[in-house]
Amino acid sequence: MTDAATVERLRARVTGRVDVDAPLAPLTTFRVGGPADVMVEAETEDDLRAVAELRGDLPIAIVGRGSNLLVSDDGFRGIAIRLGRGFRDHERTDDGLVFGGAVQLPAGARLTARYGLTGFEFAAEIPATFGGAVRMNAGAHGRSMSDVLAWTDVIDLASGDGRRVTVADLGYAYRHSELRPLDLVTRGEIVLAPDDGSAVGERIASFLRWRRENQPPGRSAGSVFKNPPDDSAGRLIDAAGMKGARAGGAQVSPVHANFIVAGPDATATDVWTLIAAMRSAVVRTSGVELEPEVRFLGAFPEVEGWLRVVET
Ligand SMILES: Cc1cc2nc3c(=O)[nH]c(=O)nc-3n(C[C@H](O)[C@H](O)[C@H](O)COP(=O)(O)OP(=O)(O)OC[C@H]3O[C@@H](n4cnc5c(N)ncnc54)[C@H](O)[C@@H]3O)c2cc1C
Repeated sequence: MTDAATVERLRARVTGRVDVDAPLAPLTTFRVGGPADVMVEAETEDDLRAVAELRGDLPIAIVGRGSNLLVSDDGFRGIAIRLGRGFRDHERTDDGLVFGGAVQLPAGARLTARYGLTGFEFAAEIPATFGGAVRMNAGAHGRSMSDVLAWTDVIDLASGDGRRVTVADLGYAYRHSELRPLDLVTRGEIVLAPDDGSAVGERIASFLRWRRENQPPGRSAGSVFKNPPDDSAGRLIDAAGMKGARAGGAQVSPVHANFIVAGPDATATDVWTLIAAMRSAVVRTSGVELEPEVRFLGAFPEVEGWLRVVET
């Protein structure tokens, strides 16, 4: 448990909200899991530096839109930090746009249409923050952040130091970057080309239509596993007979086997158990060890044959 003195010091320095025993479930798209001991909503870079300075030995978790996060039912014993409205700004540059880390990707994509810029249409359907998308190298329709990002500014919450990282130094691969665990993305520039705004808007609308027709509705975190090279995780899970499988209130989507949909009574443990079962079934039937795309926050129960993960 975080001591009251640390909370008081944080409240005295941070301009954004500092909440104790703060529910994390509503901040995620699965909408399951327990609270964080402390939640800081940072509004300025000084707020971020204050957290780095005052955290002591407390673990820190960075939370974006929570669209790729499974939070343990026991919650998170430490300080969860997210970016507030102060990081939801944007700026037109000669080459494209600079987005603050809290800009929502769909809103960012709509802005590119308004500015008559092409290259970011793929982002319209990803329910992420810009910061979360930079870390995850989020992408769709064959494009990802690595295709558009020029640079990102980060503050390392371990030291409080800020630095600019160019795309070449991000070590980008499929849904992967080499950002350090406590590097928090505060902003970044995407490079785009001029185009007719209404053509950009039409492409965005067609991507969104495609999503509505092909993506399972309900509470999910998108793809549970990364696709292995030259194959699809959904195909392997389907071939393993797991489509439609249930654990408690969670179900492998009957529409797309790489999605788990959390029902109204689902717990994080249900989702976790199902992820473990999907992975084991695929190992058994095809020998492939799927790697989760979903990030895990907090402590999860041991499941035989399954990695015990505590990370952000
Ligand atoms: C319906 C649905 C559809 C989806 N479709 C896609 C898709 O097409 N393509 C795709 O790539 N993903 C997709 N996703 C997954 C998800 O949107 C992405 O992984 C996204 O990048 C997560 O961003 P977030 O802001 O929600 O981050 P979170 O889920 O909150 O966090 C994800 C990771 O990023 C870190 N993080 C968050 N914010 C920051 C920050 N400011 N600085 C540094 N690290 C940060 C977290 O610590 C965590 O490690 C989908 C999810 C859902 C629910």
